[in-house]
Amino acid sequence: MVSQATLSQTLSLKQKLRDPHTRALFVVAHPDDEVIGAGGSLLSHFECCKIVHLTDGAPADIFDARRAGFSGRHDYAHARREEAAEALSLAGITKGQVIELGLTDQRASYELVGLARLLSSLFDEVKPEIVVTHPYEGGHPDHDSSAFAVHAARQLLINESATAPQIVEMTSYHQRDDKTIYSDFLSSEGCVPVTFELSLAQRTMKRKMFECFLTQREVLKWFPIDVERFREAPEYNFTQPPHSGKLHYEYFDWGMTGDKWRRLAREAQTVLATKGVE
Ligand SMILES: [Zn+2]
Repeated sequence: MVSQATLSQTLSLKQKLRDPHTRALFVVAHPDDEVIGAGGSLLSHFECCKIVHLTDGAPADIFDARRAGFSGRHDYAHARREEAAEALSLAGITKGQVIELGLTDQRASYELVGLARLLSSLFDEVKPEIVVTHPYEGGHPDHDSSAFAVHAARQLLINESATAPQIVEMTSYHQRDDKTIYSDFLSSEGCVPVTFELSLAQRTMKRKMFECFLTQREVLKWFPIDVERFREAPEYNFTQPPHSGKLHYEYFDWGMTGDKWRRLAREAQTVLATKGVE
């Protein structure tokens, strides 16, 4: 049973997302995640919108780069940046609205403290009303790191009694038993998503945006384009697994496990909670 309070929170989030004057900042792990999560509905909708890409989308292991026809990591990263710029231009978003932090793909988990501090300063400067990011769901370690850094950045502002944004989640992907779930959330107590059924025009635009990502065709083909979902982020305990069983990224040989990620998160929380210690 969904409580009245939850329903009224969902309604107020829906109004905020429908208001083009809402100041929005997207914080995503890779240059395409914002299009996957919000390309049909929100990206072209807000008058004041900025996007942060934590990584350049190119892993240190150049397997992905080679498979996409590039000889090295930097060429691949450049191609991914240009693809994202082209896709975002279809939503009216210019390169000037995109902040590239340039971390290596799959490495954000090792930079949690720095990311939290940097995002905290950015939130303080830009003063977004909402920050849209990934849920904590074990899909990709960079996605979970993005969620961690946004929540920790918000907490740093709250600790200093500064204005802190509301955290909104868009969907990405995660594992449920032996299946990968795309474009839906792991259920969370008291969280009711706002669902936007995309119109024909919105679906057409999202398809065109997807087509800009030539290097990501094999990945993007799995994401449906008829619906986008958002919700207010739940309070997470990042030292606990997001769900039982094997996490999605544990199926890949990326040198990261759920245990290791949670240890890095625990260490980062300790550093961030210790004022003045670098
Ligand atoms: Zn991603």
